[in-house]
Amino acid sequence: MLRVIFNAGLITRAAIGLAAALCFSPGAHMKARVAADDLSARAHKLHFSSMVVDTHDDTTQRFLDGDFDLAPRNAMGSIDIPRMKEGGLGAIFFSIWIPSKITGPEAVKHALDQIDAVHQQVRRHSGEITLATQVAEIRAARKQGQIAALIGVEGGHMIASDLGVLRSYAALGVRYMTLTHSGNDEWADSSTDVPAHNGLTDFGKDVVREMNRLGVIVDISHVSDKTFYDALHVSKAPLFASHSSCRAICDAPRNMTDQMIKDLASKGGVIQINYHAGFLSQEFRDAEKADPELGKAIATEVQRRCGDKEGCQLIEGDKITREYVAQGKLPRVEWTKIIEHIDHAVKLVGADHVGLGSDFDGANMPYGMEDATKLPRITEALLRKGYSEDDVRKILGENTLRVMAEVERVSRELNSK
Ligand SMILES: [Zn+2]
Repeated sequence: MLRVIFNAGLITRAAIGLAAALCFSPGAHMKARVAADDLSARAHKLHFSSMVVDTHDDTTQRFLDGDFDLAPRNAMGSIDIPRMKEGGLGAIFFSIWIPSKITGPEAVKHALDQIDAVHQQVRRHSGEITLATQVAEIRAARKQGQIAALIGVEGGHMIASDLGVLRSYAALGVRYMTLTHSGNDEWADSSTDVPAHNGLTDFGKDVVREMNRLGVIVDISHVSDKTFYDALHVSKAPLFASHSSCRAICDAPRNMTDQMIKDLASKGGVIQINYHAGFLSQEFRDAEKADPELGKAIATEVQRRCGDKEGCQLIEGDKITREYVAQGKLPRVEWTKIIEHIDHAVKLVGADHVGLGSDFDGANMPYGMEDATKLPRITEALLRKGYSEDDVRKILGENTLRVMAEVERVSRELNSK
């Protein structure tokens, strides 16, 4: 989740798989074409036989905005049941999100409303989508031809500094919690706020311990570097970043440094690459810095179109940004930038520690990755880069399931003591 952000980015000219362009004779050209077609077929088969998991989607905001429903194919946004099926998405984490400035009982009330909204959507479409809280339930859903819906809370401020609230969320099916959003909590520092706690407070460390016991994944997207290291040190289970990209490619404070990615991986964790153009592309960030008035103009236009409706704001923010790109006011980011971030992280720590956390319906998607139907492109691009089928399956979702299984095991162990 981003708040009224505008996007832009690099025109990536990385042409993937243009093997034919390297051939000099008609025969060789023909051979390359056949090989390329074989690869497309192999990618299709691999993608649709893999468990594809997306660890961060902000579609929940749309559930509360009025008449949005997951069942019909929607013209706007990135996620609905038909498009998830078309893109082979097997499991999705719906994000529960409110701004960091809303705290205390009001924050809890909003979070409960959103959790309920996810439950209601799942109940309404129980033939096609089912709530899952464990790896076994995700696999069972797949066997029955259903999409698994999971819930993640994006921002520790929503527990109102109360472990009882955290336990209640877990009982309602919440399976990860991002320790902060873009502002500091009462007990943890965010990457996009002025440090107030030097990472996690003592209570913040207790939150992490209780999450371990409850089997809730500790999500370190959005947190400050010090909060990340404190959480990594305290947690008995692997952590993940549900939607973060690589800071070495795009210097956003909520992206992860190479060292952080290595340290996360050394404890079994996974970085789930975020598709937001402004976290993928340095050119975007530079454009943002060069002309802050653009961001303000977009925010004003979003407010005019949507008022306080959060779901509308997120969808319109992306739409207006695209209008700015079309007018040449902002650079354009291609979807292949996602592959660049995946490949960077894989080169650092191997294919066991990288996954997908789109930020669909909450950010500015790069061109060519507008919605869930485009996901098979990732599989094909990775195969064309020479990734093994096993490695592609891990990145698509098996790594996430491994982290979940380990978090479940640690929870069982802690509860048996
Ligand atoms: Zn977010």
